[in-house]
Amino acid sequence: MSLLEEIGDAARREGATSVSRVTLRVGRHSGVSRDALLFAWELARADTVAEHAELTIEDIPLAVYCATCDDERAPVQGGGLVCATCGNASPSVVRGRELELVSMEIAP
Ligand SMILES: [Zn+2]
Repeated sequence: MSLLEEIGDAARREGATSVSRVTLRVGRHSGVSRDALLFAWELARADTVAEHAELTIEDIPLAVYCATCDDERAPVQGGGLVCATCGNASPSVVRGRELELVSMEIAP
């Protein structure tokens, strides 16, 4: 899990040997399910600085940019990348595909 490498690198830079909390941002369309991520996390964090860290997952709903509305919109549920407000195709995803480290707290 490359996120744990990222966490390990950041902890080393801070001179920390243990991390108490990790917050991740996970888009609903990142291709990673929350359950799969939690499961992978439990396995991958063993013997790392994050071994005892509490994991917080921020769930990010999908949002598209709609050129017709000229704004960020939620897409139609289960209907592909179509603006729910005006019904036009809006293929530019602005949010919802991320899988990233938001923050971490170093254990005292
Ligand atoms: Zn629209």
